Amino acid sequence: MERNPVKIQNLNVDTFTFDEAVDYIEKGQVVTINPEMIDYASKHPDFANILKEAELVIPDGVGVQLGLKILGHNVKRIAGIEFARKIVEKNAADGKTIALIGAKPHVIEKAVENLKKEISGINIVYYHDGYFKDDTEILNQLQLKKPHLVLTALGAPKQEEFNYKAKKLLPESLFIGVGGSFDVWAGEVERAPEIYQKLWLEWLYRTVKEPKRFKRIFPTLPLFVLKVLKEKITGV
Ligand code: UDP
Repeated sequence: MERNPVKIQNLNVDTFTFDEAVDYIEKGQVVTINPEMIDYASKHPDFANILKEAELVIPDGVGVQLGLKILGHNVKRIAGIEFARKIVEKNAADGKTIALIGAKPHVIEKAVENLKKEISGINIVYYHDGYFKDDTEILNQLQLKKPHLVLTALGAPKQEEFNYKAKKLLPESLFIGVGGSFDVWAGEVERAPEIYQKLWLEWLYRTVKEPKRFKRIFPTLPLFVLKVLKEKITGV
C-alpha cells in the first residue's frame, strides 16, 4: 500500500481508512493531526518539519475533516485514541513489546493496570509519567528495552518533539503521540458518548466537561476554517 496524502495549509495528511492505516504503519512516527497543531506548525517551522517527516499523519477530529472537505477532499477522520488502541491490540497479539510515556503519575499507573487487565498478551516493558524535566533517562531506557511500540501522551507539540527525537535513536520502533488517551484508559476522563461523536460534537462535550479547553479551541477552530477557505480561494 502506498501513501496518497492530500495537502492542507502546506502539510500532508494521509487518506488511508482506519484499517488501511493500521495495516500500513510498521515503524516511524504517527501524528494525529488537529487544527491546533496545524496552527502551531504555521508559526514554528521546526514543528512543521516534524509533521512533514512523519511516517503517517491521520486526521483526528472534525476540524481537519471539515478543512479537508472545504478543499474538496473527502477523508474520513480517524480517532487517534481508537487507532492507538487497535495498534496496541495488534502489538500484543503479535507478541511484541510496548512502552508508555506520559500523563500524571497516578494516571499512567492506572492506565498500565487497566491495559494489562483488558488486553491479553500485552507486554509493557517500560512506562514513565509525562512530567519530567530531562528526557535523557527515558531515552536511555527506551534504547535499552527497545520496545516495538512507544505511545507518548504528553500533549502536542511535546509528544511529537519527543517522538521525533526518539525515532532517530530507535529506527525500528513505532511511535504514536496519543494526547489525552491515557487519561481515558485510566478511567480519569470519559470519552464523549457515541451520539456526540456521530454529530461531530465531541469537542463540545469535552469543552463542557473541561471548560478550560474552550480557550484552546476558540478562536483556533474558526480561524482555521477561515484560513482553509482562503487557501481554497487563493491557493495559499
Ligand atoms: N501531559 C504530560 N506532560 C506535560 C503536559 C501534559 O504528560 O508536560 C499529559 C497530560 O497529563 C495528558 C496528556 O498529556 O494526559 C495530553 O493532554 P491534553 O488534554 O492536552 O491532550 P489532547 O487534547 O491533545 O488530547
